Amino acid sequence: MSTPSSLPPLVAMDVAGRATRVREALAEHGAAGLLVTKPANVRWLTGFTGSNSHALVTADRLMVATDGRYRTQIADELDAAGVEAEVEIVVAALAGTLQRAIAPGERVGLEADHVTWSKQRVFAEAWPDRELVPTIGLVEELRKHKDAGERSRLERAAAMADVALAEVAPTLGSGRTEREVARHLDSLMIEQGADGPSYDTIVASGPNGALPHARPTDRVIEAHDLVVIDVGARLDGYGSDMTRTFVAGAEPTERQRRLWDAVRDAQAAGVAAVADGVEIRHVDAVCRDVLARHDLAEFFIHGTGHGIGLEIHEDPILSARTDGILRAGYVVTVEPGVYIAGEGGVRIEDAVVVHPSGCEPITHSPKTPSLH
Ligand code: ZN
Ligand code: ZN
Repeated sequence: MSTPSSLPPLVAMDVAGRATRVREALAEHGAAGLLVTKPANVRWLTGFTGSNSHALVTADRLMVATDGRYRTQIADELDAAGVEAEVEIVVAALAGTLQRAIAPGERVGLEADHVTWSKQRVFAEAWPDRELVPTIGLVEELRKHKDAGERSRLERAAAMADVALAEVAPTLGSGRTEREVARHLDSLMIEQGADGPSYDTIVASGPNGALPHARPTDRVIEAHDLVVIDVGARLDGYGSDMTRTFVAGAEPTERQRRLWDAVRDAQAAGVAAVADGVEIRHVDAVCRDVLARHDLAEFFIHGTGHGIGLEIHEDPILSARTDGILRAGYVVTVEPGVYIAGEGGVRIEDAVVVHPSGCEPITHSPKTPSLH
């Protein structure tokens, strides 16, 4: 068991500087303010993690509103993040608070992907003579770029998952169920200081591996099963993401080796394609081309990857349908797989930091089909 001191060091995050970046983006939208309602966006902007949270950014103010349950927590979390914000503990409606912050006639951005129809009506009543405009992905766009503090959290979280997997992988096929193996991985990450798993850990053996998002079951993992393990740790809200596929307690059959090698080649080609300035859909195409050469393209039934951070799937989404360019400082996954109904699946996934001329994986678990 590795001790926390052997994990990558943490670097301070610049949370206080983020409101300035939002203001610059707002100016481009011609809006006087942005009401941030998506919890992950509020957390990114302020450090506050409460479930009831609204943050308002204007040219000269940063205001965070929540309810009385969070009175102490919000003060502590803003302080820990080094963020100076006006805190409003709003017991009744948010309306009056909002009204004071934005002058009549001005435009206020609402997060269109997060504000419900009914909430929009509440805000429209709160700001009868302000112009509400939908913004899409404004904060998410800024969140794509991870600062050094965010990267250090993702790196440490990824290292925790590496340590957990190294302990568990050699035991596959020794009589435990998928659920038992998943719980073991989770507890090993928590022992190292993780908040918890960054998503429901996937352990999918034999035919269950044909489901990309399989949930662990009480199926006993048998020797010779292909086992897909998708595991990540969460630390300070930042979640890592990695997948390895093993043959439990045995050497792979010729068929298993063929599937595994094809996915490994596709994944390696995808990682090799990642660099600053590269079109996102190019990375997806590279992975698909390799699998097509192995006559396996039809079994790759999801996108190639996604950004990681405060959410486990965040922008940019690496798929054939995504416009956009990878930029240095993004942290994205590359995770091609093949899923064959009745038989099983293989997926290999790394999270990588995009660099000017390539990328650097933060997930380091060895890639090998058998570890018995
Ligand atoms: Zn994953
Ligand atoms: Zn992933």
